[in-house]
Amino acid sequence: MKIICIGRNYAKHIEELANEKPEHPVVFLKPDSAILPKKMPFFIPTFSDNVHYEVEVLVKINKVGKHIATKFAHKYYDTVGLGIDLTARDVQAKCKEKGLPWEKAKAFDGSAVVGEFYPKEEFDMENISFQLKKNGEVVQDGNTKTMLWKIDELVSYVSQYFTLKKGDIIFTGTPAGVGKVQENDVLTGIIQGKQAFEIKIK
Ligand code: MG
Repeated sequence: MKIICIGRNYAKHIEELANEKPEHPVVFLKPDSAILPKKMPFFIPTFSDNVHYEVEVLVKINKVGKHIATKFAHKYYDTVGLGIDLTARDVQAKCKEKGLPWEKAKAFDGSAVVGEFYPKEEFDMENISFQLKKNGEVVQDGNTKTMLWKIDELVSYVSQYFTLKKGDIIFTGTPAGVGKVQENDVLTGIIQGKQAFEIKIK
């Protein structure tokens, strides 16, 4: 399986990182080795002094698809989840400066936190509220209604480039409020009132 991630999909997050608003969705990949094993803590890697959390709504692809039209995109996922796109912000800043690819900053081991998935019928895809708590305090509070590109548009867009396969996961971008993780932090993800994950930072 593969993980397809969307960057810069919420205006306020674009502002906080002083990025330009993109003309098209920003897309990058994480390999399956990036998934943090369930119940494992996240160990801050030695190559970064500034790993950021980015809480994101996830969808899991349920069948093969390519060149999917937006109006049919909803047929390609049954479940919705929540995760974290952990990002070595210092490494990413160096990559961006030099115009280099982002993988070392985005695709390292443990950088994809994947929480529980729930049936999509439980959600209005264009109005999903979700939060990230750090040590019990809300640090990110988002809603898919403020996305620049809606989830079905993203599924359609990425399927122009990559054949989607059963089990692939799409990370749909983070709202404002990203910040640094520190040793002993506990990060809790909540989607529509349900706790989708809890991870410890080591
Ligand atoms: Mg992200």
